[in-house]
Parts: sequence; C-alpha cells; structure tokens
Amino acid sequence: IGDEAEEETSSSSLSYEDVGGVKPQLARIREMIELPLRYPELFDQLGIDAPKGVLIYGPPGCGKTLIARIIAHETEANFFSVSGPEIIHKFYGESEAHLRKIFEEAGRKGPSIIFIDEIDAIAPRRDQVVGEVEKRVVAQLLALMDGLNSRQNIIVIAATNLPNLLDPALRRPGRFDREICIPIPDRDGRLQILEIHTRGMPLADDVKMNHLADVTHGFVGADLEALCREAAMSVLREILPSINLSLASIPCEQLAKLHVGMADFLV
Ligand code: ATP
Repeated sequence: IGDEAEEETSSSSLSYEDVGGVKPQLARIREMIELPLRYPELFDQLGIDAPKGVLIYGPPGCGKTLIARIIAHETEANFFSVSGPEIIHKFYGESEAHLRKIFEEAGRKGPSIIFIDEIDAIAPRRDQVVGEVEKRVVAQLLALMDGLNSRQNIIVIAATNLPNLLDPALRRPGRFDREICIPIPDRDGRLQILEIHTRGMPLADDVKMNHLADVTHGFVGADLEALCREAAMSVLREILPSINLSLASIPCEQLAKLHVGMADFLV
C-alpha cells in the first residue's frame, strides 16, 4: 500500500484512560467494536452478523480520531487510517483502486480497523455530486462494505463533522448502520479532559482544575489540550532568559522550580 495507506502499529501507549468526557459513548463503541473484534465467536453462536461499520460524528476536535486509535490499540487490531480528502485529491484517478487495496490488505492481516476520517469527502449524497470521481468512489466504498464478511474480522470506522451530507445508502443496514455522536464536552467532561492533559505536568499550587472546567465553556478536547500545552510553553518562555543554554543539560534544581500555572490564559 506504500506509505500513504498508513497502516499504524498499536505500539503507542494509548488507552481508554486517555479520552475524557465520553464515558457513555465509549461504552457503546466498545460493545460495537471491541466485542466483535475480540470475540467473533459470540456473534457466530448467536447467529447474528457482527457490525461492519460504525459512524462517529460530531464537531471537530472532540476526540473522534483519538477514540478510533484507542480502540485499535486496546483491541490489538491492525489499524489502517485513511483520510477522505486525501483519497479524492492525492489519489485522483486511482481513488477506487487505493480504497480496494486498503480493504484487501486489512483482509489479509486478520482483525483490523479501517478508519476513514472525513468520510463526507468521499461519500457525499450522489444526487448532489457533480464529479464522476466522487460518484465512483462512493459506489466502490459501498461495494467494499457489502463484500466484507464476518470471517474477515474487519470493522470500518468512519468519522465526520457533517453526517447529514453523507449518501444515505451508506447508512443502510450492513454498512454504517451504527452511529455515535461525540459532542462538545460539558463541564465534567472538560474537567476529565483537563486532568488527562495535565497528568504529567508539575502544576503550580494555585491551579484549580474545577475552576478551569467552569470557565472553559465551549472548549472542545483539542482546545483544552492546546490550553495546557500553551500554559507549559509560557513557563518555558518566562524562564528562558535565566537558563544557561551552553550547558549540556539543565540542572535538576532549576527543573524542579518549573511549575505550570494556567490563570493567564483565561482572563
Ligand atoms: P476532526 O473532526 O477535526 O478530525 P476529531 O474529533 O477527530 O477532530 P481528534 O483529532 O481526536 O478530534 O482530537 C485532537 C486532539 O485533541 C486529540 O489528539 C487529543 O489530544 C485532544 N482531544 C480531543 N478530544 C479529547 C477528549 N475527549 N479527551 C482527551 N483529549 C481529547
């Protein structure tokens, strides 16, 4: 498949503990994805087909991609990640062949998750599509989904911010027939996400996580991550003039003085 189809090994240390504010959604996703990937025999025994496709939708930056990666890691499935816009633009003229290759490769590898990010780019409503390529790619994706059988142990996860722009044929039974919304986090969700992203940080004594969660209404996971990173970066900028950069390493006593405060970012 080359470097573009981006098969990823699950070597990073991602776990369910790394995503916050999505407890109920995660429980459903685990039931729909982890169960069939880990225990396909349960579905055989019950005489039902395991889900083939799950659509995760919601605003940008709320953790759709993160959740797909975590599931792949936790289930130890092979993870194939493709981007909808890339399939259309980068592989123009070869888009369908590229999709076919990914499905074939996943079929050879055993339990696999194929993650299609921004699926709206390759599966818009066909009645509203002008381009021939888009029409052919949607048709190819439908055919590939229909061709998946439970023996192959492949689950396709698609993510989009715009679920209503998708071709309805894609959401029929046997295709992406399970849907999960990952919403903008509420206050408790924000608190969990802030705790995740400050886990390894030496926080200043006056940092009050509950207060930060209260005053970050509207922040999504990606915003909260950026907030924590920027707070840490600002500490670096502050202490930079006092560091002797000609030394091979920063002395321990100087490192021990580093504390991340957050208040300046939220006034
Ligand atoms: P897009 O629709 O733009 O692709 P997305 O919903 O897939 O966005 P991610 O790419 O998963 O969002 O999120 C970007 C980063 O923000 C993540 O790698 C993670 O660090 C952080 N993040 C987002 N949501 C959460 C969350 N619920 N818990 C913890 N971290 C989060």
